[in-house]
Amino acid sequence: MTHDMHPQRWGDAAHAEPLPASTRELVELAFGAVDTPAVDSVTMPSSELAAHLLGTLADIVGPEHVHVDDHTRRLRTRGKSTPDLLKARAGDVSDAPDAVVRPASADEVDALLGWAAEHHVAVVPFGGGTSVTGGLVAAREGFAGLVSIDLVRMDQLLEVDPVSMTARLQPGMRGPQAEAALAEHGLRLGHFPQSFEYATIGGFAATRSSGQNSAGFGRFDQMVVGLRLATPAGELVAGSSPANAAGPDLRQLVLGSEGTFGIITEVTVRVRPAANETAYEAWRFESFTAGRDAMRHLAQNQILPTIIRLSDETETALNLASQSDVGGEGVTGCLMIVGHEGASIDGRRELIASTLTDLGGSSLGEDRGQSWLEGRFHAPYLRDSMLDVGVLVETMETATFWSNADRLYTDVKAALEASLGEGSIVLCHVSHVYETGCSLYFTIATSSGDDPLGRWIAAKSAASDAMIDAGATITHHHAVGTDHKPWLAREIGPVGVAMLRGVKDAVDPTGILNPGILIP
Ligand SMILES: Cc1cc2nc3c(=O)[nH]c(=O)nc-3n(C[C@H](O)[C@H](O)[C@H](O)COP(=O)(O)OP(=O)(O)OC[C@H]3O[C@@H](n4cnc5c(N)ncnc54)[C@H](O)[C@@H]3O)c2cc1C
Repeated sequence: MTHDMHPQRWGDAAHAEPLPASTRELVELAFGAVDTPAVDSVTMPSSELAAHLLGTLADIVGPEHVHVDDHTRRLRTRGKSTPDLLKARAGDVSDAPDAVVRPASADEVDALLGWAAEHHVAVVPFGGGTSVTGGLVAAREGFAGLVSIDLVRMDQLLEVDPVSMTARLQPGMRGPQAEAALAEHGLRLGHFPQSFEYATIGGFAATRSSGQNSAGFGRFDQMVVGLRLATPAGELVAGSSPANAAGPDLRQLVLGSEGTFGIITEVTVRVRPAANETAYEAWRFESFTAGRDAMRHLAQNQILPTIIRLSDETETALNLASQSDVGGEGVTGCLMIVGHEGASIDGRRELIASTLTDLGGSSLGEDRGQSWLEGRFHAPYLRDSMLDVGVLVETMETATFWSNADRLYTDVKAALEASLGEGSIVLCHVSHVYETGCSLYFTIATSSGDDPLGRWIAAKSAASDAMIDAGATITHHHAVGTDHKPWLAREIGPVGVAMLRGVKDAVDPTGILNPGILIP
């Protein structure tokens, strides 16, 4: 696996696959697929940073770590949202940074922010580039230039505290790097978002991501016990104890700040012993409501497994249709995946199995659970293959309290179906559960048509309105970026917006950090 993703696709270009013939036939039948090649060559806008500014940048990080070539700048242009991908495929590289700089230490990051503030240059912290909400599309108007601060060189495990079970990590470590480094100490982080292969520790913290194992390990914001943040006003070091009552928790203010308050240069996380035992099972429930009720029961009785997710009827039918190798035919209802990971899992596994049975679940065995595990990082590649044949596949997520889950599901699904029209598919699963509520994760598939971006923006707006109107959040784990900003303002209200702006003014008075991202 390389560090850099293809500018128009997910992951390593070597893993890109055309749709298998049988899937293509189905897709043609459902959506009338047509080959839709991406534009190959693009003309990059020239770098507009003045030569003397490039010279002073080189003084900070070394000339070999300042890049103005077209290739590197293209790789650091935007992220992986649908607007990002569609623009890249159409050859639109207008958001390219003027330069990409690669600091090696917190001190260099600090010096870069001083440089940017002095010369009024906008900066975009770049982790893995997997943002799906426009978090890397900073506004450049009014600035002397736009520089991507690429944290790829800050990729070390700095320290393990085996007594407290914590580890200090640099922000540029990608998911697999962090797991491999911790494994050498017999430890694990256990944070597996679907973007795990490319996303970074700093990105997880900056967006408050949530992984597939979050039922057992918690969200990333629950894993962080300390961090360092470089800001134009100086450094914040937060987290001198596991918990405190020393005013508002500043760690939580930094987590989710999406590069607008500063650049996270170090994260201290909770770690766990490496898992000795694992098991992944599938269960069937009669309906989405029955499955959700069972999840709520497990959560409220503190007997959650490490992984739990539940597909609605449509997603179940589609998943199982593609799993004929594990006997997918003939199963109706809703599919639940239950994963157990730990030093010793038998007791809890039996308790959960008997509880799920009592609540109306039927075990479908381990084959389907295992096949989910094996395919869990594959979907992003499929998204590109579908775009290649003119089919737009995209996801969105939200969360609410249990008592409101049914309304949220119905309203968002109806909004998407009405916007996308006939011949489109809307799927949903419960992706994360808590004692008090759950996250709903929607996937849509629709013909791209003549104006795929317009189609997507209309559908996304309709669904976002439905989320806020239903009293839910605009995002459970994808963060705000630019795409969710209008709805964030509605979610947190004018006082919430004023508080965010107040912090921003205090730490970044000239507004050089990620302008246009997150803060309404
Ligand atoms: C295919 C796919 C699947 C995904 N699955 C999940 C999922 O399961 N769960 C989930 O939560 N998310 C998921 N995401 C969204 C995304 O991967 C997460 O938001 C991830 O945490 C971003 O990490 P990154 O390192 O790629 O950050 P980037 O995309 O590089 O940056 C994200 C934002 O954080 C800022 N930033 C990055 N690093 C720093 C830093 N060190 N200091 C300050 N600001 C910084 C950036 O400027 C940007 O605004 C998925 C995305 C894709 C494309």
